[in-house]
Amino acid sequence: MRLSRYFLPLLKETPKEAEIISHQLMLRAGMIKQQGAGSYTWLPLGLKVLNKLTRIIEEEQNRSGAIQLLMPTLQSADLWRESGRYDAYGKEMLRIKDRHERDLLYGPTNEEMITDVFRTYVKSYKDLPLNLYHIQWKFRDEVRPRFGTMRSREFLMKDAYSFDLDEKSAVDAYHRMFVAYLRTFYRMGLTAIPMRADTGPIGGNLSHEFIILAETGESQVFCHRDILDKPIPPLETDFRADLTPIFEDWTSLYAATEDMVDAAAYEAAVPEDKRVSARGIEVGHIFYFGTKYSKPMGASVTGADGKETDVHMGSYGIGPSRLVAGIIEAFHDENGIAWPVSVAPFEAVVINLKVGDAGSDAAAERLYADFLGEGIDALYDDRDQGAGGKFAAADLIGVPYQVIVGPRGLKDGTVEIKHRQSGERETLSIEEAVGRVKSLIVPNRRDSL
Ligand code: ATP
Ligand code: MG
Repeated sequence: MRLSRYFLPLLKETPKEAEIISHQLMLRAGMIKQQGAGSYTWLPLGLKVLNKLTRIIEEEQNRSGAIQLLMPTLQSADLWRESGRYDAYGKEMLRIKDRHERDLLYGPTNEEMITDVFRTYVKSYKDLPLNLYHIQWKFRDEVRPRFGTMRSREFLMKDAYSFDLDEKSAVDAYHRMFVAYLRTFYRMGLTAIPMRADTGPIGGNLSHEFIILAETGESQVFCHRDILDKPIPPLETDFRADLTPIFEDWTSLYAATEDMVDAAAYEAAVPEDKRVSARGIEVGHIFYFGTKYSKPMGASVTGADGKETDVHMGSYGIGPSRLVAGIIEAFHDENGIAWPVSVAPFEAVVINLKVGDAGSDAAAERLYADFLGEGIDALYDDRDQGAGGKFAAADLIGVPYQVIVGPRGLKDGTVEIKHRQSGERETLSIEEAVGRVKSLIVPNRRDSL
């Protein structure tokens, strides 16, 4: 992408309405524009990051055996009357009437609708296990939308739903998704800690929230420090295998949210020097809830013995639009965002310090073309303006590697590379630059098996 032709509305001033750093930086870096309470336009740079996150989520969901579909945002109230949640859900649900005075709602979640899809088509135990997911906008009329896309009213969610014949295989499905989540957050550069959690309005009896630690987190969490250093299950995990041992290993160390923590149990389980009590951001939440929806909604299958059984279900959410903000909370400094490579809007930026100078233009154009040729997602700052503004922009939007091209270096045939996260700089011959940057980027994409 050539910056001179891109749409990147950067702000000089920190907007006053933004209370936390990720919200400030998303506005300043031209990633989002507010449209109303808890409602945002995703500008091109923000959308690019959001799409990188959903891509990682899709890859890991698919790898775990889940299958993608897409359900509508508007749902019929009648479906929710079947489960009993139409009245129970309360004011967070946006209720709408169409021209025929029929009651609709903008989906805050999709347990009812997916159960309806399931019961329409699946009749036999032979079609199980099944896990279906979609990535779709949700609406919740939050009491206090705040912190930008961290807690908005309209937000993106990946929600998966598992269907199994009995509790044992449903818990296996839960373990599979648990491991898929560990991998998903790892690939985004994050340390997300699974914690025992309350099941809330979704209901059920087994639930974990995936939490990233940040001072601006909305809830207090408690865990054993060693969880933070646990190696994630290998990327070549075979999802057909029994993943219970991995689940048990991860959950053997104490970790709970404030709703679930038992102070005495926490103190007994964790030695004083290993106790972490910190603020956290919930980025994912998984539930096993048995037949809570299948029973009232008639989602049953014929078992091997010819008997009808209600299926056992679980649901599994991740919030990509909240994650964009959460990643910025984890990766920023006084100059702006410092993205991990795997989720960066661009992997490298070529900064031409002297647009109009024939030598600089030729070298920068060449580098940009070579990056694209090597499959690097590159930005080219070809704007005719001062170096200071270009450096500030590259730092603010957080591109992991900056390749700086100017007449001074070119006299000796060199360019400079700046690593955004560490601040480290290298001077290299122009021939070496693309290969060097590529060798830094590829392992940090965290996508190889
Ligand atoms: P919270 O306790 O933060 O309100 P929740 O328990 O209501 O979250 P779930 O129903 O489990 O959330 O939704 C799954 C995921 O969707 C959450 O883990 C979070 O990442 C995301 N999410 C939920 N509410 C919002 C929101 N208002 N804005 C952005 N993302 C959200
Ligand atoms: Mg909520």
